[in-house]
Amino acid sequence: MDRRKVLSTSGAAAVAALAGCATGDAGSSSGAGSRTVFSVAQPMLPIAGTNEMFPVRRIYCIGRNYAAHAREMGSDPNREPPFFFQKPSDAIQFVAIGTTADHPYPPLTKNYHYEIELVAALGKGGKNVSVEQALSLVYGYTVGLDMTRRDLQRAMGDEKKPWEIGKSFDRSAPMGPLHRVADVGHFTKGAISLKVNGVVKQNADLNMMTWSVAEQISKLSQAFELMPGDLIYSGTPENVGPVVPGDVMQGFIAGLPMLDVRVVGTKNA
Ligand code: MN
Repeated sequence: MDRRKVLSTSGAAAVAALAGCATGDAGSSSGAGSRTVFSVAQPMLPIAGTNEMFPVRRIYCIGRNYAAHAREMGSDPNREPPFFFQKPSDAIQFVAIGTTADHPYPPLTKNYHYEIELVAALGKGGKNVSVEQALSLVYGYTVGLDMTRRDLQRAMGDEKKPWEIGKSFDRSAPMGPLHRVADVGHFTKGAISLKVNGVVKQNADLNMMTWSVAEQISKLSQAFELMPGDLIYSGTPENVGPVVPGDVMQGFIAGLPMLDVRVVGTKNA
């Protein structure tokens, strides 16, 4: 390799490093013609009423965003800055409208909880986005479950360790297809509820969020550069609780189709 080639190659690598993320044309840093050694699926969500798909980049989740849920989790509700965690994008379990998805009871937990949530999907990104501008980033919405291995989350929290194992496991993000803002508008109020085996367990209104979706986007964008493809779980209302194999969950947000999920498999001994 001659000197010029070395310089141009290292230059490309430096540019890629400056760009800072291991995505996109990762092969370019090692020259034209590089190939990935195997393929990794891009998580996607169907866009309702279209033949199009929404590629998912990151999944952010806000914690304790309804006062009554904050209380049941043992903290005082207040307007201190919201906190966020992430789920991996491949934790999505897509649930088609009108179907009941089989959701395997996950390993390790003995206290597996539902959390019904509104999920916002960003079609545009930004840093330090103002509250006034924030909703212009939203492409659409769907109903999602932030499934939680509550015993593991609590145990890690008690030890001041990350929540990862309680929140960010395989299939921990069941959700329906995206509904475009152009079709359904924005969600600042309206019923949000969850039934288990036909019995109402969670029942609240989106207007009871401590931080609105617009405020969440604004705050999140101060910590991370938001990008198209990012999803934001907007928090769950009170009365989270357990499910066991055989239970059927029905998540509902006024203006969106029902999310139906059946827990299958066996409880952990
Ligand atoms: Mn949650």
